[in-house]
Amino acid sequence: MKSKVYFIAVKDANDTRVVNEQLKKLLRESKVLDFIRKEDKVAVKLHFGEEGNTGFVRPQHLRVICDGIISKGAVTLLSDANTLYRGKRLNSKDHLALAYAHGFTREAVGADVFIPDDNKKEDIVDIQINQKFIKTAKCARFFIDADAIVAVSHFKGHILTGFGGALKNIGMGCATREGKLAQHCDVAPVVYTDNCTGCGECEIICPVKAIHIENNKSVLDKAKCIGCASCIAACPSMAMFIDIEAGAKTQEKMAEYSLAVLKDKKEKAGFINFAIRINQECDCWGMDNPRIAPDVGILASCDPVSIDKASYDTVNKACGKDIFKAVHPKQDGLEQLRYAQELGLGNIDYELVEL
Ligand code: SF4
Ligand code: SF4
Repeated sequence: MKSKVYFIAVKDANDTRVVNEQLKKLLRESKVLDFIRKEDKVAVKLHFGEEGNTGFVRPQHLRVICDGIISKGAVTLLSDANTLYRGKRLNSKDHLALAYAHGFTREAVGADVFIPDDNKKEDIVDIQINQKFIKTAKCARFFIDADAIVAVSHFKGHILTGFGGALKNIGMGCATREGKLAQHCDVAPVVYTDNCTGCGECEIICPVKAIHIENNKSVLDKAKCIGCASCIAACPSMAMFIDIEAGAKTQEKMAEYSLAVLKDKKEKAGFINFAIRINQECDCWGMDNPRIAPDVGILASCDPVSIDKASYDTVNKACGKDIFKAVHPKQDGLEQLRYAQELGLGNIDYELVEL
């Protein structure tokens, strides 16, 4: 049976009042939050936007969603896990400060922000899934322990996965740094020597001496690397990075991580995709990157595969072409959806209900 995806058009993302009216109508008509029960602890998974990024879903819209959750008698916290890369979301303290700086305060949103800490054992958990790539997923415990999850995702392009929506928000976004690296590459990162200044930060930080500097460039010994990602975080020049040729594999691993996060959330997960301010790259980029499509609208569903396919189709229809393929020709973003369907996470076929 096809899953229903509800869609409401948004003409101008900057008209916050109108967007919120449309969002309220979408939540009411789609009943996407109706699975939430009294006293449920609900994790709202979102991306607070890297410093300098302007694409992220605005706190004013989160207010509407949090009010909807709280009206069910549930309690909720907004959350995101820390990143692999150097930036303001690399550790919990800076990440929290950035969330506040971007307006995600209790006063504005009606809920607190919690950022799990990769360095605290009690904040991380291993989930056994025994899939093709991932046997044990390394996740932030907060999302696993929550009674329910609401994924609020900004739908946009992505250098590795073609596009990013609900599956990316859940699969990559709920993983610890170790889990994120496992999804990005087999173990070792790659050195983009053109960017490398030979500063030696990666050599200093590597716990297993897998890096040395030769002719003023970083050289990595993959046989020694344990995939801790510390060098990616330490590099000030974006020279230590994931391998973009590994896109298809990353998408499959991301789907497997989504399976781990949603494993015990049957009928306890809802997905809201904002297809507005549609950028070429994800909100991890610490800059305003090019808009590739007009504002399209907001979608809601209980099926993470259907909502991403509907978002993809709706944006492409507005562009008159496959805009994600146009800006990321090396990536077939639909791979994540095909594999997620195979894993039983949802349906690629959907019924679009336009409001
Ligand atoms: S990922 Fe960790 S172990 Fe591997 S080279 Fe980088 S710092 Fe060293
Ligand atoms: S930290 Fe980055 S720029 Fe510095 S040597 Fe290592 S790879 Fe090169």
